Amino acid sequence: MNVISVDGLSKSYGKGTMQVDALQQVSFQINQGEFVAVVGASGSGKSTLLHLLGGLDKPSGGYVHIDGEDLYSLKEKERAVFRRRKIGFIFQSYNLIPVLNVEENIRLPLLLDHRQPDRAYIDDLIHTLGLHERRKHLPSELSGGQQQRVAIGRALAYRPAIILADEPTGNLDTANGREVIELLKLAVRQYHQTVVIITHDMNIASEADRVLHLQDGKLLSDTQGRGRDA
Ligand code: ADP
Ligand code: ADP
Repeated sequence: MNVISVDGLSKSYGKGTMQVDALQQVSFQINQGEFVAVVGASGSGKSTLLHLLGGLDKPSGGYVHIDGEDLYSLKEKERAVFRRRKIGFIFQSYNLIPVLNVEENIRLPLLLDHRQPDRAYIDDLIHTLGLHERRKHLPSELSGGQQQRVAIGRALAYRPAIILADEPTGNLDTANGREVIELLKLAVRQYHQTVVIITHDMNIASEADRVLHLQDGKLLSDTQGRGRDA
């Protein structure tokens, strides 16, 4: 089943001679449980696409359907609720809450949605992320890489249907980056979550089920990766 459907999606910034066509008539579908990598040169439209998939911005044309719901026909408030229920973001700006400790930050989306945390899963997550000795620490007491891992934990704790990740391993060393990818793969395999990840790392892209290659705001290619048989 298509969990994400993108049809003729376009986005322009600015006006007149200053106009930038960041995305031009992009269409594709993503099935539940797919691990999709988005690649392309800097400025090719990757972040713009990810923001539009997540309901964080308004397209200039075209549609995004998530689970059959036309994302941009929803009112702003409805879209925010929909987003919180369905989508976990792993972005470069961590957006951690400075007065909450590691564990509280990770549990926050569940609290906001009045859901009971799955304690065992969250403990496991905190261990896998190598944060167990830091669970009572505030974000300001953590390194950049640790903060990034808290943000990842927060996105995963919720087990959202869709995880959107913008260079999640960008600030991590190889070993930590490896673990983050393994966590995302686990999310796909074990919990049938759908992952869309922007990456410059060709090793990561080669492990994906699919690779969407953007060039100058257009979809240059949509290829099967070797993720399924790896
Ligand atoms: P990528 O993530 O592949 O680097 P982006 O989606 O960030 O690409 O950007 C695509 C194009 O849109 C670039 O030319 C970029 O400069 C432009 N762009 C992105 N965001 C904005 C913005 N808020 N205002 C104006 N131009 C933007
Ligand atoms: P960049 O890629 O330029 O570092 P980000 O992709 O981290 O920027 O964030 C882009 C925008 O998306 C920011 O304005 C940020 O506030 C917003 N954003 C990031 N995460 C979320 C979220 N979970 N919910 C709503 N908005 C978010």
